[in-house]
Amino acid sequence: MINKVLVVNSGSSSLKFMLFDMKGEKMLAKGLVERIGSPNANLVYSRAGGAKSNSAVSAPDHAAALKAVLAVLVSPDRGVIASLGEVDAIGHRVLHGAEVFKDSVKVDKPVLAKIKKLVPYGPLHMPANIGGIEACMRILPKVPNVAVFDTAFHQTMPPCAAQYALQPKYYKKYGIRKYGFHGTSHKYIVQAAAKWLRKPVSRVNLVTCHLGNGSSISAVKGGKVLDTSMGLTPLAGLVMGTRCGDVDPAVVFSIAKLEGLDADRLDRLLNKESGLQGVTGVAGGDMRDICARAAKGDEACRLALEMFGHRAAFYVGGYNTLVGGADAIVFTGGIGENSSDGREQIMKRLSALGVKIDKKANAKIHGETGLVSTRDSKIPCVVIPTNEELMIARETFRLA
Ligand code: ADP
Repeated sequence: MINKVLVVNSGSSSLKFMLFDMKGEKMLAKGLVERIGSPNANLVYSRAGGAKSNSAVSAPDHAAALKAVLAVLVSPDRGVIASLGEVDAIGHRVLHGAEVFKDSVKVDKPVLAKIKKLVPYGPLHMPANIGGIEACMRILPKVPNVAVFDTAFHQTMPPCAAQYALQPKYYKKYGIRKYGFHGTSHKYIVQAAAKWLRKPVSRVNLVTCHLGNGSSISAVKGGKVLDTSMGLTPLAGLVMGTRCGDVDPAVVFSIAKLEGLDADRLDRLLNKESGLQGVTGVAGGDMRDICARAAKGDEACRLALEMFGHRAAFYVGGYNTLVGGADAIVFTGGIGENSSDGREQIMKRLSALGVKIDKKANAKIHGETGLVSTRDSKIPCVVIPTNEELMIARETFRLA
């Protein structure tokens, strides 16, 4: 019987974790080890409802970081479990499942070998994701591991949505197609929205907007993804914190020629130096800073906000058409859950769909589930906080 599930999100220099008791889906403790590989690695840790603590740890690699996490979880003064024997299963966030993994999977050696072959799909993230799984397999060899892929939920897209209008050899030889990301969040939101609508998942049509530093919107028909705004990589689609989202592909080779930039430099320009940050100069393109400056009359920030809303509304409108009319438009992620201005920028552009914003409710809702459109809005717009870690824990519980 699976009771306690540890969720691990292993990044290049950090390892985030949450421990759940699946009886009642209660979060027991959470935290992260940051600056792995540096001499000043740090463990941030808190128990449910408790204060955050910081402590220096020795974490030259992910295995050492995991040991530090396990040590605090069982420590007599700060821990939440008596022994590591209480950890029944571990769920891992993995960036890319390509077309190999259409669902979460229990990891054994052959599965791990298959995941390793997918490193070229995410050369920055996949090695760290795999490092986290290997560390768990080594340190807790009896505990089952489950891999939950960011791309898996989008694997239901039909070819007309998933394929690019390129010669087929690029797909057949190199796997170049749309994969989509944030799948764990969109899946959680689809389940939560179905519950909110009191409909079975298989009968809901939705437009789900995950808006954070990285943002994506999905078209969901009958509970399944029909299309999503991110593509081969998380660069496509919306205007994001530091990513440009959609541009005419010719922009890329025009800038390359004009400024003599190579592929790596262009990659950095479009992924890390564009989007809200690129337009405004605000570091990280943080929505809070941009809204604050826009309110004070900063023209570049105002423009960035309008661009953000315009692009997002374009996707919402198109996806509403493709799903044959959405039962709800859902906002989630740091911006979707918290930024009244960000949501308003989108909703105010949706009047042709019969969407009517409830300004009072929209100003009030932060980080909680609630309606932000009026009762007579033709499509309800609702905020639902995402919980990717809980979704990973549920997948782990289901498979382990
Ligand atoms: P990530 O994609 O890194 O997980 P998040 O989902 O945490 O990002 O979202 C980060 C974004 O959410 C930032 O742009 C941040 O400004 C915005 N955000 C977070 N809290 C608020 C808030 N209270 N009001 C407005 N924006 C917020």
